Amino acid sequence: MTSSRAAGSYPDRPEPLPHAIIDSHTHLDMGTGALADPDDGHEYPPLDWFLTRAGDVGVPRAVQIGCELASARWTADVVARTPELLGGVALHPNEAPELARLGTLDDALGEIDTLLTGDRIRVVGETGLDYFRTGDDGREAQHYSFREHIGMAKRHGLALQIHDREAHADVLRILAEEGAPDIVVFHCFSGDAEMADYCARRGWYMSFAGNVTFKNASGLRAAASRVPRGQLLLETDAPFLTPVPHRGRPGGSYLTPLTARAVADVRNEPLEELCAAVWANSLEVFGDW
Ligand SMILES: [Zn+2]
Repeated sequence: MTSSRAAGSYPDRPEPLPHAIIDSHTHLDMGTGALADPDDGHEYPPLDWFLTRAGDVGVPRAVQIGCELASARWTADVVARTPELLGGVALHPNEAPELARLGTLDDALGEIDTLLTGDRIRVVGETGLDYFRTGDDGREAQHYSFREHIGMAKRHGLALQIHDREAHADVLRILAEEGAPDIVVFHCFSGDAEMADYCARRGWYMSFAGNVTFKNASGLRAAASRVPRGQLLLETDAPFLTPVPHRGRPGGSYLTPLTARAVADVRNEPLEELCAAVWANSLEVFGDW
């Protein structure tokens, strides 16, 4: 049986990197179909397939992000038994309004708070604001949830990984009002050069995903060219945002090298030096493992 998600539909492996890097944000629960309906007719590659393929091209480690309750529970479980992975858990900004409507947002936040005590859970994320997918009526719940996650990152002493979609000004305002945790990462950075400078001055990390390779992303490439080397991270957000030339197909951590090459290019930096910096920065953010 074949389907759009079977291993055969994934792009070929890219050329290996000259130095290992870490994929700082991926969704293996989706890639492996771990939480999918077994009768959905799709066939998913297993976890080992993703890990081996990534290791083969210089991406031996990744941070698995579970951002609704079922995937957060799965994340806590999988990272405890998978040496290649660390985890992050949170309620996604598009999930918060839905839970608020059901009256279960506070209970869900409480469970995330408990999952954050796992010693291989090193990230509060992804949280933040998304004005693209959630309308005005969901903003109050998003703001509340984001503020609660900022508090959790500070209490647990963990990195805060921010999802910011078309909400730059309010994300920065709420961070300022709450007081940012020690380690802040803008996952899938989507700001312009000016916002990159603002984040750089505050010592925040900026993580670039496959969309930095897209044809229309010149503003994002301008931002990537300005990030101080010590604050740069790379990620896939897989199975989404698969880099060029495979845009539109499902992806995995093994495609991070395509993004690494594009970012090294735009920054005019030797690929090996860039990768070494990304490796070191990742360990600073997540701790070693
Ligand atoms: Zn994500």
